[in-house]
Amino acid sequence: MVGNVFSNVASNYDLMNDLMSAGLHRLWKDRLVSKLNPFPGMKHLDVAGGTGDVAFRILEIINSVKHRAMQDVLEDNLHEETRIFVCDINPNMLNVGKKRALERGFGEEKSLIWVEGDAEALTFEDNSMDGYTIAFGIRNVTHIEKVLAEAYRVLKRGGRFLCLELSHVEVPIFKEFYDYYSFSIIPAIGELVAGDRDSYQYLVESIRRFPPQETFASMIADAGFQKVEYENLVGGVVSIHSGLKL
Ligand code: SAM
Repeated sequence: MVGNVFSNVASNYDLMNDLMSAGLHRLWKDRLVSKLNPFPGMKHLDVAGGTGDVAFRILEIINSVKHRAMQDVLEDNLHEETRIFVCDINPNMLNVGKKRALERGFGEEKSLIWVEGDAEALTFEDNSMDGYTIAFGIRNVTHIEKVLAEAYRVLKRGGRFLCLELSHVEVPIFKEFYDYYSFSIIPAIGELVAGDRDSYQYLVESIRRFPPQETFASMIADAGFQKVEYENLVGGVVSIHSGLKL
């Protein structure tokens, strides 16, 4: 069912993201990537990477670090080793991402690799990644625990797990407004713009089913991660959870 939802929304996905969040998803993704501290030579896995938004941000930061250190041959050689993998279960989302990569001038970028795959059963080797991100993806998977176990497996010691997800608002009046917005307005925008009310209704319902911030933090710790913490943005509309594999 999730496969169908994202096949249906792929072509309108980026426009709908802007409309539904009033463009805020861009700032939230910036915040996620700023917590990652990308560096030339890093091996990074962005799971449920969809149309590439998070991966593009990581590459842009690495490229800016590289250009600042242009005379430094070491930095240049290091960048040759950079690998940013965008893994998603849905080929339609990846195809939109590949087109966007061309438009953004990443066509020749060897560091950017698109992989069709399931977050619950990754094809990457143990201890192979410096970083792992998942943005607006984990609430749509069938078994969150399997995704966390796989994240832990593929990260190197010292590697960072970061998850950006729509979460739970606790401030009473704001919560009522947000509930009205998400249950009434978002499906209506979905129908109006994408001609697909049901997919957007499903996406909203999946937010309610996702565990609250503290519960999700405990699940991350149970998977083996340490220094688990989270940051709420816009009163908990979204949260960024992080953990380290030590
Ligand atoms: N991370 C992107 C972003 O923030 O713009 C895309 C987020 S989109 C809401 C959710 C993505 O999760 C979709 O592209 C969907 O295909 C993908 N997805 C759902 N279940 C998945 C799974 N089990 N493994 C990998 N990707 C999955």
